[in-house]
Amino acid sequence: MKRVSAAVDSSKLAVSCMPFISSRFSDRVGNMEDIMEKIISLAKRRGFIFPGSEIYGGLAGMWDYGPLGVELKNNIKREFWKTMVYGRDDTVGLDAAILMNPKVWEASGHTDAFTDPLVECKKCHTRVRADHEDEIKAHEEIHKKKKEKVEWTEPRKFNLLVEAKLGAVEEGKLSVYLRGEITQGVHVNFKNILDSSWRKLPFGIAQIGKAFRNEITPGNFTFRSREFEQMELQWFCSPLASRTVRTHGDSNADLRGKWMPDDWFGYWKEERIKWYISLGMEKSHVRFRKHEEDEKAHYAKAAWDIEYDSPFGGWKELEGIHNRGDWDLSRHSKFSGERLAYFDDETREWVTPWVIETSGGVDRAALFFLIDAYREEGEGKEKRTVLKLHPKLAPIKVAVFPLLANKPQLVEKAREVYKNLQTTSYNLQPIVFDDIGNIGKRYRRQDEIGTPWCVTIDHQTLEDDTVTVRDRDTMEQERVRNEELNSFLQKSFV
Ligand code: ATP
Repeated sequence: MKRVSAAVDSSKLAVSCMPFISSRFSDRVGNMEDIMEKIISLAKRRGFIFPGSEIYGGLAGMWDYGPLGVELKNNIKREFWKTMVYGRDDTVGLDAAILMNPKVWEASGHTDAFTDPLVECKKCHTRVRADHEDEIKAHEEIHKKKKEKVEWTEPRKFNLLVEAKLGAVEEGKLSVYLRGEITQGVHVNFKNILDSSWRKLPFGIAQIGKAFRNEITPGNFTFRSREFEQMELQWFCSPLASRTVRTHGDSNADLRGKWMPDDWFGYWKEERIKWYISLGMEKSHVRFRKHEEDEKAHYAKAAWDIEYDSPFGGWKELEGIHNRGDWDLSRHSKFSGERLAYFDDETREWVTPWVIETSGGVDRAALFFLIDAYREEGEGKEKRTVLKLHPKLAPIKVAVFPLLANKPQLVEKAREVYKNLQTTSYNLQPIVFDDIGNIGKRYRRQDEIGTPWCVTIDHQTLEDDTVTVRDRDTMEQERVRNEELNSFLQKSFV
C-alpha cells in the first residue's frame, strides 16, 4: 500500500526519469524498444489478454484473459496453492467474500489511510501520482514540446477504495467497498479458522482472489489495473519467544520452533523469491527492495518488495512482504468486540499473534513471466518468436500433429495419440491437435504461445509406432515409442 509524500521534488525527477529500457532485453529481442508493444500484440493476437469491454471502447484499468491467458493465470495460481498450501502442513486455505461489512475497512485503517498522493496539472487538469516520478516527467515533456511550463497543485490524499451500493431498495442501499486488498478476509476469519481447524502457532492462511483499487493512473498494460488478483499468505506467529519446538518436516525445524516474527519475515522473503525463480524467472531479473520509513503502509512494521526488472522503467514491484505486527487482529478485536487472540497452552496466557504477509499480484506475475519468457531467435526463414515459459506455466502442454493433413492414415493415428494423451497423461491438462498449414508453421505457432512439446506422427509411426517429440527450447527432435510417450512427457513436466 501507499505512502503520502510531502511534495514533488522536481530536482530528483530530472535524473530519474530518463526514458529507460533495460539493456538486458537487447540480447533476446530484435528491436528492444518495442518489447512491450510486441508482448501486448502477442497477448491480443494469440488470446492471452484483451482490453476489457473492448467493443465499447474499453474501460481504463480493466483486462480480460482469453483462452490462453486464463490457463496461464490458473497455472500460476495452482503453483502458488501447491507450494503454499498443499506442500506444507502448517498452512490452510480460505476464500472470503469480496464485499465485507464497511466496518472492516474502518478497523483496518483503509478508509483513512489507503491513499495515494495525487497532483493535478494546473494547465490541463491531468492527475498523476505525486510519487511516480516517471509519470510527472512524461507529462511535463508533453507540455514542454508545446513550450509550456507545468505547474502542479499541492499533493493531496486520494482514497483508493472502490465504492459500490448494495440492496434492492433505493433508499435502503448500503454503501460498501469492493475490497482494496484480500488480506482483511483472513483477519476477520482468524477466530473461525482457529476454532475449526485447531491450529497451533505458527501457522498460515493462504488466499487468492480479486482486489479493486481506484488507481489514479492505471497503465503499463496489466501492471497497474483497477481490478486485479492477489495471491497471499498471512503467517501468524508469536511475538513472544516460544519454548515449543514445532516440526516443519525438515532439518531446520528445531530452530524454527523458536523463531520470532523477524526470523519468519526473513524466511518468507527468501521462500517467495525462490518460488518465482523455481518457475523460470531469471534470477538476475528479480531483487529485493526495502521500503523507506516514509514509504511504508500504515500497518507495516517492516516492508520489502520483490521487484522485477521491467522494460517499462526498470525495477517494479511484483510482490510485497510485510510485517503487519498485531495491527489487524488488534484493530478488529477493538472494533468488533471479539477476542481475536491465541491461547498459549504452555504459558497459559493470551497472545495476539503477529502477522507476516506475503502479497503477490497474479496479473503482475503473469505479465512478468510473459516478459521474461519472450524471445526472438534466428534470422530470415529461421526466425521465430518463442515464449520460453516453464512447462508448469505453459498454457498448452503438448501439441499433436499429423505430418501431412491430407493423409487420412496419419490424421487418424495422430487423433488416436492425441486422445490417449488427453485422457491419460496430463489429468486433462490442455493439449491441442493441429493439422493446419505445413509442419514448420505449426511449430512456430506453438513456439509463440510457449507449448513445451510438439508430437508429430509421420510415416515411420505407421510402421513402428514411434513418434517424434520436439523440444520447444532446443528445437531438437527425439523418437519415442508411442507406448512410452506418456511417461516421457510426464518426466519432463513434473
Ligand atoms: P504499488 O506500489 O505498485 O501501487 P502496492 O505497494 O500498493 O503496489 P500492495 O498493496 O503491497 O501493492 O499489494 C500487493 C501486490 O498486489 C503488489 O505487489 C502487486 O503485485 C499487486 N497489485 C497491487 N496493486 C495492483 C494493481 N493496481 N494492479 C495489479 N496488481 C496490483
